[in-house]
Amino acid sequence: MADGDIRHLQALDDADPLAAMRERFLLPSDIVYMNGNSLGPLCRDTQTRISRVIDTEWGQELIRGWNTAGWYDMAVRIGDKIGRLIGAEPGQTVVSDSTSVNLFKVVAAAVALRPERSKIVTEAGNFPTDLYVLDGLSRYVGQDCKVDICRRNDVFNAIDEQTAVVVLTHVHYMSGAIFPMAEINLRAREVGALVVWDLSHSAAAVATELDATGADFAVGCGYKHLNGGPGAPAFTYAAARHHPDMRQPLSGWFGHAKPFVFSDEFAPADGIRRMLCGTTPVLGASALEASVDVLLEVDAEEMYAKAKKLSRTFQELIEQYCDGLGLRLLSPRDTQWRGAHISYAHEQGYAVMQNLIAKGVIGDFRAPNGMRFGFSPLFMRYTDLHTAVQTIREILDSRSYLDPAYQQKHAVT
Ligand SMILES: *Cc1c(COP(=O)(O)O)cnc(C)c1O
Repeated sequence: MADGDIRHLQALDDADPLAAMRERFLLPSDIVYMNGNSLGPLCRDTQTRISRVIDTEWGQELIRGWNTAGWYDMAVRIGDKIGRLIGAEPGQTVVSDSTSVNLFKVVAAAVALRPERSKIVTEAGNFPTDLYVLDGLSRYVGQDCKVDICRRNDVFNAIDEQTAVVVLTHVHYMSGAIFPMAEINLRAREVGALVVWDLSHSAAAVATELDATGADFAVGCGYKHLNGGPGAPAFTYAAARHHPDMRQPLSGWFGHAKPFVFSDEFAPADGIRRMLCGTTPVLGASALEASVDVLLEVDAEEMYAKAKKLSRTFQELIEQYCDGLGLRLLSPRDTQWRGAHISYAHEQGYAVMQNLIAKGVIGDFRAPNGMRFGFSPLFMRYTDLHTAVQTIREILDSRSYLDPAYQQKHAVT
């Protein structure tokens, strides 16, 4: 790579207002981590917090921890913190379960709010779990719930007077393409439909304004850009205007108005707590809280701006140095319309990614042929892009990915 380009990247790092945040993460020194969109890295604060939870809270407080260590309120407390990252006023977001489970709960609740309608609109090529959960829900509910899976460009017009609920992923898991949230919420509102947003790749990656754009419901992952750790609990948002009437089918005791009265009858809690089902996973939630606290220290606009700039710079370097080497952009060209990751197709995408990972540049592979690279603004450096693009170029140019070792498929790609 030309010296001028490297100097330019170094100058960007030197001027980066978020540069010091990298120190807050524990990252192996010999890798370029471009997969914070799939599994965020470990924050040092999380390490400290988890040790404390284990040693002092669980270890010493035992069952008393539910009162003395604040475990009981964690679901709403961390929910409110995540709310600040997704444009939600307090009291509308909770942390619990997985994104898949939360999706089932909110879509069921939304469908029940539109009893005279049966159509659910979603996108073909949406994240698989979203489609599978909708399939399961519609089989369970029966005639009153039919899923209309549209091509992306047809989604807007499919939202009509028969539509009960629209279920969309805000930032597409593969292409990173962003749906215009405000326009879709408005369209749905005009025809009396409700919208459920999957924010798995949005939270802490792109500016997201649920309240201001009139969103109804949302769900999203804790372990991606929120850095909550593998299998971290997920979040659920429901706009306050829906709270009095919404009912979700997994009515467990944590969603009860008075769980410790131990009544035989279910009475939903007021407000967002009724979206909860069972006991909060305290260890996972503690890890998530520690990493969300780190995210809340920085200026969100600065964070999103850096993610875009990293992504744009990477795209430019790929165009400049990997032209003619078989890569095809699968993402929108304009960073305004994509989230904090980018994907390229390559005939041998799986093997190329395995080769890259072996060389310390960690992205991931998404079938059938996509290589995905994430840009996490809190720990990535502009000079990391140099290492990454240089390695990609070497691998493609030498065809070292043809080595059979890189063809071997792992259970998780
Ligand atoms: C990662 C992701 C999920 C993951 O759901 P889990 O229940 O955590 O496995 C769901 N939806 C989208 C859009 C995702 O990107």
